[in-house]
Amino acid sequence: MATKAYLLKQQKELIKKIKDFENLIKGSICTLYQTCGKKGCKCERGEKHPGTYISTRYKKKVKTSYIPRSEEKKVLKWSKIYKKHEDYIAQLTLINLELLKHRKK
Ligand SMILES: [Zn+2]
Repeated sequence: MATKAYLLKQQKELIKKIKDFENLIKGSICTLYQTCGKKGCKCERGEKHPGTYISTRYKKKVKTSYIPRSEEKKVLKWSKIYKKHEDYIAQLTLINLELLKHRKK
């Protein structure tokens, strides 16, 4: 079992990492193919337009939003930051559970 001092150090480091972020976004990013509605467009003949979308769930509702091409890079970056944070939170939870065991009886 890890020492209490070690766990506290890990805890502190993780809290610091969680606090230090530029921005984040939660969701799964995917490419969807859609028609644009313009008469005579190639998409009417089946060559649908690809677009990048993000789906996110909040309180049991799923929201899917289009990501403009100019924002794609940024959204992908924020999504990666979210995933990292999800991992930090899971790690911090394990450390806190471990620290509960070190509580003096
Ligand atoms: Zn079209």
